[in-house]
Amino acid sequence: QQAGALRFDESARQIAANARFIAGGVNSNFRLGMQPGPLVFERGEGAYLIDADGNRIIDYYCGMGATVLGHTPATVIEAVKRQAEKGILFAGQMPIEAEAAQLICERIPSAERLRFGSSGSEVAQAAMRLARAATGKHTIVKFEGHYHGWFDNILWSTAPGLNAAGPDEAPTPVIGSKGQDPAAGEGLSIIGWNDLAALEARLAKGDVAAVLMEPAMCNQGAIAPAPGYLEGALAACRKHGAILIFDEVITGFRLGRGGAQERFGVTPDLTLMAKAIANGFPVAAIAGRADLLDLFADGVLHGGTFNAQPVSMAALVATQKALTPEHYERSSVHGQRLQDGIRTILKEAGIKAQVAGFPLMFHVAFGLDAPARNYRDVARADKAAYSRFAHELLKRGVRVLERGAWFVSSEHDAAVVDATLAAVRDAARAVA
Ligand code: PMP
Repeated sequence: QQAGALRFDESARQIAANARFIAGGVNSNFRLGMQPGPLVFERGEGAYLIDADGNRIIDYYCGMGATVLGHTPATVIEAVKRQAEKGILFAGQMPIEAEAAQLICERIPSAERLRFGSSGSEVAQAAMRLARAATGKHTIVKFEGHYHGWFDNILWSTAPGLNAAGPDEAPTPVIGSKGQDPAAGEGLSIIGWNDLAALEARLAKGDVAAVLMEPAMCNQGAIAPAPGYLEGALAACRKHGAILIFDEVITGFRLGRGGAQERFGVTPDLTLMAKAIANGFPVAAIAGRADLLDLFADGVLHGGTFNAQPVSMAALVATQKALTPEHYERSSVHGQRLQDGIRTILKEAGIKAQVAGFPLMFHVAFGLDAPARNYRDVARADKAAYSRFAHELLKRGVRVLERGAWFVSSEHDAAVVDATLAAVRDAARAVA
């Protein structure tokens, strides 16, 4: 088949037909808006997705970061089948959830205890509630461009459609959706990330219950914390009696088995996990200091019909068992070679770009002269040009997020990376 010749007509036809029953033809707004339109997939196979037109596509969405073992890991699928045969939902406790909890507590430095939930959005709510109960204070510090779910009280100055507003040192909160309750943002204070002086100054006001951050900023860009930033944030939280919450929904099990906290050596009070924790099954967790988590058994309400759903717990246990040190070593080699290869190809094609991040999650921003340090830097990238590049890649059988993020799984091996780099070379020529 000719380079750049893939067609997506059947996907387009089905999306249009599905819109009769599914609002907008998709079940998450984050699946709208990409070129040439939302796709319909028949199945996954390792690093590949097969779509309704029969195209075999190398996938760097990886379930928005969830499928760290690829689309069809045999051990996870076997475990899920076995558990499903024993029953679907008990509204009670079962041995598999204890095994799951112990595995996570052994692997995540901050996790003395945990509670499971079903989505990252939800456990972010639980964390804010816990922090307010523990401190008796009200304000949650949130950072521009960081995303912690779609609920009214946190969907501020974040994707989708964020335009930074106000001066760098005092951002104006930007509401995230039509219909969102403007009053629900009253408990937030929004500042720029990676700026320790700004955080210290905000904490000094004394009203902060919690500082909630992505410890490496991966919703916009893939940005490591500045040296000393996480340590400084923790010290400042201690000094002012605030809870430090790391949202590791993306970074967890991707920057390493112990997440960003292990990679950067800073242990927060509370940690949020989801996505890769169970390789795409709907599991989230809030974990952290035992004295904080124990508040859930002492008057702080946390519920959920699907919490610790047995089939998802089986997926979690099988996923965690597959996430060996060897998995990270091997996939990191391929992910790093991919990232370095893209950087070189874009440079040779004369495309100004920044390629930055981590072996299993990195970001490509067109039009930037220097590496991004925070959201405002990322916002200066040439999104329209990158979107054209992403579309050219898709026509060559490589699917990447238009916001610039690339997620790598253990199925993205040497051959997949070679095929990807060939497509990148070709797509770069097409847009240069
Ligand atoms: N936190 C972060 C850092 C995320 O990236 C996301 C999802 N992209 C969420 C929270 C929300 O998770 P969920 O989509 O599972 O509700």
